[in-house]
Amino acid sequence: MKIDVLGSGAVQLGRAVSCDGFIYGYPIRVQTHVHEDHMDGFDSSKGLQRIIVTRPTFDLLLAIRDNADIPYRENIEVVQLGSPISIENCQIILLDNGHMLGSAQVQVTLSNGLRCGYSGDFAWPLEKVIKVDQLVLDSTYGSPESIRKFTQEEANNRFVDLVVNRVKAGPVFISSHRGTLQRAISCLDDAIKDPIIASPRLCAELEVYQQYGYTLTNILSTNAKEAKHVISEGRYIRLFGTGDRRPTDTSEATSITLNAYKSRLDDPAIEYSEKSFCVALSDHADYEETLEYVRATGAKKVMTDTTRGGHGVELAQALKRELRIDAQPSNNRYVREWGR
Ligand SMILES: [Zn+2]
Repeated sequence: MKIDVLGSGAVQLGRAVSCDGFIYGYPIRVQTHVHEDHMDGFDSSKGLQRIIVTRPTFDLLLAIRDNADIPYRENIEVVQLGSPISIENCQIILLDNGHMLGSAQVQVTLSNGLRCGYSGDFAWPLEKVIKVDQLVLDSTYGSPESIRKFTQEEANNRFVDLVVNRVKAGPVFISSHRGTLQRAISCLDDAIKDPIIASPRLCAELEVYQQYGYTLTNILSTNAKEAKHVISEGRYIRLFGTGDRRPTDTSEATSITLNAYKSRLDDPAIEYSEKSFCVALSDHADYEETLEYVRATGAKKVMTDTTRGGHGVELAQALKRELRIDAQPSNNRYVREWGR
């Protein structure tokens, strides 16, 4: 096979392109999105590879990581979704995959015409899907047990109702991963007028989302004078994103975690206690949606990614059984990073 996933999580498409990881001797890295579990070896790549990203991913990298050098680096290239580029004897095209701002699927056409692809983390349905012969597939929800019995719209509505009701009684703390948090807050925009407070780091990240059309209003940095006044009044929403430290005493607040992984499949909201909830907002396709995605790519060979948790082994079995295609879980071989 021309595709592989290494122990570091680097996805290999042919002999020139790695995605979301560094492979020594590979001239190109495609960065599908900015979640931490896809950033392995990024500093090595900055030194040794040409890095291909979408414009929003570039802007987010600048806002959230120690990447002040990237605007000055000539080896980081911004590409348009849907516009193919020719590089190192192959053609690369990125298409939106619905997972978070800037995230993309990758299609690489090799010089012999073989098309290799990587889904990245993806949501479903999608307007455009890569067309490939061989595919590396995200396996986050790749088990038949992970079919959600509610839509994301229902989950969004439950989340908004919960915030609207709870903020009347005191502060509401919302915690989530990058992307999911911003999507959730933009759902709140019409429903609440209460101020939303976030760390300066998270505010910088939210500004990037605003540039790309997310409606995020009433957001105050914890450093702002007004924020201290709002906190003393006790009626506000506080956001906690990746890397934000939570206060030790949260007894006055209602805590809402946004995480589909910790939730039930038959109900979008769980109440842990009177002041603690989890809502199943997800930016990943579930099991049936994953099968639909694979069908749409036309892939004849699939490797399921087992390096990022999830259900790679069950998913490979399901693809063989349900779609009758050649599928195997990645065995994540370790290569010496520097090729010595
Ligand atoms: Zn992700």
